[in-house]
Amino acid sequence: MISAAQLLDELMGRDRNLAPDEKRSNVRWDHESVCKYYLCGFCPAELFTNTRSDLGPCEKIHDENLRKQYEKSSRFMKVGYERDFLRYLQSLLAEVERRIRRGHARLALSQNQQSSGAAGPTGKNEEKIQVLTDKIDVLLQQIEELGSEGKVEEAQGMMKLVEQLKEERELLRSTTSTIESFAAQEKQMEVCEVCGAFLIVGDAQSRVDDHLMGKQHMGYQDLVLLTIERKLSWPIKSYME
Ligand SMILES: [Zn+2]
Ligand SMILES: [Zn+2]
Repeated sequence: MISAAQLLDELMGRDRNLAPDEKRSNVRWDHESVCKYYLCGFCPAELFTNTRSDLGPCEKIHDENLRKQYEKSSRFMKVGYERDFLRYLQSLLAEVERRIRRGHARLALSQNQQSSGAAGPTGKNEEKIQVLTDKIDVLLQQIEELGSEGKVEEAQGMMKLVEQLKEERELLRSTTSTIESFAAQEKQMEVCEVCGAFLIVGDAQSRVDDHLMGKQHMGYQDLVLLTIERKLSWPIKSYME
């Protein structure tokens, strides 16, 4: 005789008392709608949500029960999921390594421009300032001579020229100092070796902590294979060439 429970099982399925997300267990772990990365440990799409490196949402099923079923099955580690998973992680790591290299190149470039710039526009400005100062000195001496000779009008005319030259010199001096302080600021940048973000050298500790605890930085840190292995139920080494 069939029991009430068996009857209900037949009518509504064996997982009739499970929460909606557990009911997915009537989907097999090898079904195409199941996220294979998640079966291997975690889905990388969840690492960088709402950061610059967001991979976009994963549309596939992430189900703890399916993972357990996969791990217990005789096909565990035999269907190539782990290899695909590691390959994907390595492609993500290769991408951040490229970003770190680009960051270094960008900093080196701007630092080069600044140091050659010191001999360029800034150096030229200093030359011009020196030429102006020499001119002004000569003029002042002539004004003094004119004054002692009683040629007041000529002296006043020259004095106007001196004022003009002084203004010009002041303008050159102020642009030079702007360029220099700009260069000094840029030199204090560095590239984070984990996530590739630009950091300010000697930044306040709270800002440094914010970065280190930030989702993007943490996400890439998790990607480092040694860190990942602690989260997995299978040995990574068996897949490393
Ligand atoms: Zn997924
Ligand atoms: Zn970082």
